[in-house]
Amino acid sequence: MNIGRSVPIEMQRASYERTHGICVICGRPISRNESKWTVDHFIPRAVYKWVPDNKIKRITMSFHNLLIVHPHCNYNKGSVLPTNQMIDDLHAEEDVKQSLRTLYKKAESNIIRYRAIKQSTLDSQGRRCAVCGRRLPLNRAVMRRIDDTKVRERENAMCICEKCNLRACAAKRKGKMIRSRQEYSWHKGVRS
Ligand SMILES: [Zn+2]
Ligand SMILES: [Zn+2]
Repeated sequence: MNIGRSVPIEMQRASYERTHGICVICGRPISRNESKWTVDHFIPRAVYKWVPDNKIKRITMSFHNLLIVHPHCNYNKGSVLPTNQMIDDLHAEEDVKQSLRTLYKKAESNIIRYRAIKQSTLDSQGRRCAVCGRRLPLNRAVMRRIDDTKVRERENAMCICEKCNLRACAAKRKGKMIRSRQEYSWHKGVRS
């Protein structure tokens, strides 16, 4: 889940228009009030962070990977990884689905690899949050580094629950906002 502060507002507005202000998850309208929006990265940014290569970051940050959805729909979705079935089930027009299918196809091997690292990490923790110890299903688990000064790899990974993650994020958010804003490729109307 991402509150969307890092995505440029013009990009968010174009994304909102693209789905006609309809939440692709529940099919209901979203308020025009921008403070009520959340940005869903259909292919999660975690995939490029943990399984980086030349293409995956561009795919994740591209305009067609962004969807404006309700905050509660975004939250309920948790950390579910995309599948073709999920794309079919979206409340969206065919052109939106088609561009997501194209992105998914390009990212599929990274997603599979990412899921394997996450599953292995969670299994090694007895399927419990590494911070609070609560039972943790794969789809609610957030993968983070144990040591933020070291690279992202299986040996430096831990799975934590969303509550513990929000607490950890709040502390780090401030300094990262400006940097990540510059990473989005903003090509309105250009297919990726
Ligand atoms: Zn919704
Ligand atoms: Zn926890």
